[in-house]
Amino acid sequence: METLPPSELRELQTLRLRRAVERAKGLPIYRKFFEKNPLSDADFQSPEDVRRLPLTTEAQLLDQFPTGLWTVPRHEITRVYSLGEKNLLTPYTRQDVQTQADLTARLMYGTGTRSNHFILISLEYDDTGIQFAYHCGAGSIGAGVISHGDGGDEEVCGPPSDFMNSLNLNGLCASTRILKGVFSTIACQSHSLDYVHILVEDEVLKRREEFEELWKLKIWLNWGHPAFFGAGMANECFHQDGLHLQEDAFLFEILNPETLEPVEEGLPGELVVTDLAREAQTLLRFRTGMTCAMNSAPCACGRTGRRVTFISGK
Ligand SMILES: [Zn+2]
Repeated sequence: METLPPSELRELQTLRLRRAVERAKGLPIYRKFFEKNPLSDADFQSPEDVRRLPLTTEAQLLDQFPTGLWTVPRHEITRVYSLGEKNLLTPYTRQDVQTQADLTARLMYGTGTRSNHFILISLEYDDTGIQFAYHCGAGSIGAGVISHGDGGDEEVCGPPSDFMNSLNLNGLCASTRILKGVFSTIACQSHSLDYVHILVEDEVLKRREEFEELWKLKIWLNWGHPAFFGAGMANECFHQDGLHLQEDAFLFEILNPETLEPVEEGLPGELVVTDLAREAQTLLRFRTGMTCAMNSAPCACGRTGRRVTFISGK
C-alpha cells in the first residue's frame, strides 16, 4: 500500500470517500448540510472533491457526546476509547481495530521493529489511546510487548532501570516526559534500546537531535489523533524527513486557518482530516488544530505518498 502508484491511490481514495459520505449522511451532525446539499457519488470524482463537504470543529465533535457520531449499531462496536477530560468517546468495530493495527504496524516495521524484538510500552491507559495502537501494531508484527504505566505525576517516571536492563529491550513507546524520567535513572551508555516511538510533541520537535545524541538511540516520530486513531495516522521512515501520511485510510488537507482555503505546498497551515476507512465513526474534514506543511516530493525510502512536516506538536 505504501508504494502504490499515485493514480491508483487516488482511485482508492475517491471510492472510499464516496462510502464515507454515505456513512456520514445518516449522522445528526451532518444531516442539515446534506438536506441542503444532496450530493451523490457523481459529485465525488477525485479526492479534491472532499472540499464539497463541511468542516467539522472539535466543539461540534464534542457536542455529539456520547454516541451521536456512531455509524453502526451498538452490537457492532467492539471497543470504545474514552478521553474523559474532553467527553470524547471514540468507537471501533472489529475491522477498525484491525485497521488501526495495520497502520501502526506499518510505522513500527518501517522503522525497524521486528518479530524478535521486545518492546516496552510505557504510557498510561488513558493517554489518548496511543497505547492501544502500539500494542496492536507490535502484535501484528509479532514483537513481544510489555506494558507499563508512566509513573503518574512523579518527577522520576517511567519504568525502573533494573527492570529495563534485565529485559534487554529493543524499543520503547513513550512520551518525552517519560523518556526524561527514564534517562534520569539509567546510564545513557548502558541500555539496550535501539529506538523510541514517540508521538509528535513540541519539545521533541525542537530537541530531537540533542536527545538522540545524549541517549544514544533513534527517536521515530508518529502522529495520531484521539478522535480517529491514537497513533499511526502519519509516521516517519528511516530518513526522518517528514511524516508519511496514511492516505489510504484518511484524506489530509492543509488549509489556511483564516480563509479555510488550501495553502500552497510547503507553506504552513492547519491539518484537516477526513475518514476514509473507519466503520464505527465518520468525521468529515475535521480541524485538528495542528500546524503542518505538505511535501509531495518523492522520499528516498521509495514510499509514494505525501509527507507532512509538523511545525507544532501537542
Ligand atoms: Zn520516507
